[in-house]
Amino acid sequence: MGTSVNRNDTLRHDPDCIFCRILAGEIPSDRVHEDEKVIAFKDLHPQAPVHVLVVPREHRRDVTELAEDPALLAHTATVAAKVAAEQADGDFRLVFNTGASAGQTVFHVHAHVLAGGTLAEGEL
Ligand code: C5P
Repeated sequence: MGTSVNRNDTLRHDPDCIFCRILAGEIPSDRVHEDEKVIAFKDLHPQAPVHVLVVPREHRRDVTELAEDPALLAHTATVAAKVAAEQADGDFRLVFNTGASAGQTVFHVHAHVLAGGTLAEGEL
């Protein structure tokens, strides 16, 4: 099944997408932030002391599609900074894996917020 537009014609939703299903509450997640535009939850397989994913509610494939809405891209970064300030010392690494050969495995855009302790060069 493909991406669909919901009743209010604003949010794209893909019923086969695991992050759409997390957003819908069908799959549990450990949420640390949510608002009308994005949610943030702890990564199931953390690669840093703090590893949170900031996920726009609207189904977009990757950061290049997210960049078509600059305000939403900016909001994603703002929420990442808030999460890093609340969960660590405010310093953080923000990663958008984009494309399979760059390590993207979930094709619903998400920002990895990596923080806490000293992150090694090249980590994630
Ligand atoms: O950038 P990439 O697409 O590889 O990142 C997907 C991330 O989503 C992984 O870090 C994985 O651990 C995480 N994940 C999760 N909960 C799920 C499925 C995937 O935290 N149910």
